[in-house]
Amino acid sequence: MWLTAIYYDGRQARPHPVTLCVEGDKLLLQGRDIVRREELASLKIPPPLGSTPRLILFADGGRCEVADRQGFADILPDAGKSVVAGMENSWWHALAALLLTLILLSVVYLFGLPYAARVVADRVPVHLLERMDNQFFASLDQTLLMPSKLAEERRHTLEDGLRRLVLPPGEDRLAHIEFRGSPTLGANAFALPGGSVLVLDDLVNLASNDQEILAVLAHEMGHVYEKHALRQMLQASVIGLAMAWYIGDVSNLLAVAPTVILETRYSRDFERRADAFAAELLRANGIPVSRLADILEKLEAAQRNTAPNQPVESAGAMDYLSSHPATEARIKHLREL
Ligand SMILES: [Zn+2]
Repeated sequence: MWLTAIYYDGRQARPHPVTLCVEGDKLLLQGRDIVRREELASLKIPPPLGSTPRLILFADGGRCEVADRQGFADILPDAGKSVVAGMENSWWHALAALLLTLILLSVVYLFGLPYAARVVADRVPVHLLERMDNQFFASLDQTLLMPSKLAEERRHTLEDGLRRLVLPPGEDRLAHIEFRGSPTLGANAFALPGGSVLVLDDLVNLASNDQEILAVLAHEMGHVYEKHALRQMLQASVIGLAMAWYIGDVSNLLAVAPTVILETRYSRDFERRADAFAAELLRANGIPVSRLADILEKLEAAQRNTAPNQPVESAGAMDYLSSHPATEARIKHLREL
């Protein structure tokens, strides 16, 4: 079978009409004044690219263009398939490389960054963390935070309740509670990086009994023990992470800490872990795990009433109300425990 083709000799731009056929392992090319008989193995045949003519590249720089792609495929069925360097293959390779890069970056983001944050969080000295808590109160007292209006006796009762909790094995420190009022933040509680738990008056007033407040404290202690606040901040700030790692200095973080802590929405994973910690702690102390579900429901309802037009996850939402469907799932899960 003969195919018509256009041949260029590689030295002049002039096209030569030729005919081609394959004889055994040789390509035979014939035109006016031109006859070439070449080993197929010596030819470069790029893979098909879109609807452009098929190419045959000769070792001496000559080349052939075959418009009849079907005819070309008939006489050289395997040509181009094994050539990796073809343009179309390069395109696929570039895409694959891009995808691989994206996957790698995602893995670093999803696993590497949290891991690094955990390692760094464990390296940050306790006194620096406590300084973060002090700075938090220093910058927010008298602005966002007010002195608590709870009776001193009431606060002592809650602190006593916390002190009486039997801690999980290996844990010997209690969270330290700071009571404050805040019209802006409403019924809320926050675990601070240094181990303090900020409890707002509205939360205490919202609870039907002290066990519900202890359940919230247990959840926040889960965040404290696993250093979620610090880890979340580190994760949110890769630069901060690098700084803390190389310089051992967290002063930059300290400067932004107060607002970051309030705006931080823990990942679902952190919330799940804090819930699991709370469930274990409550059970070990004979407090029904459902108390946490009860107060979560009340908090969610309160949040809806104070901000009916805002999504629950918007400003001021309690850390565990960070996303509504997740909260529902968590309440359901806690009720099943
Ligand atoms: Zn939480």
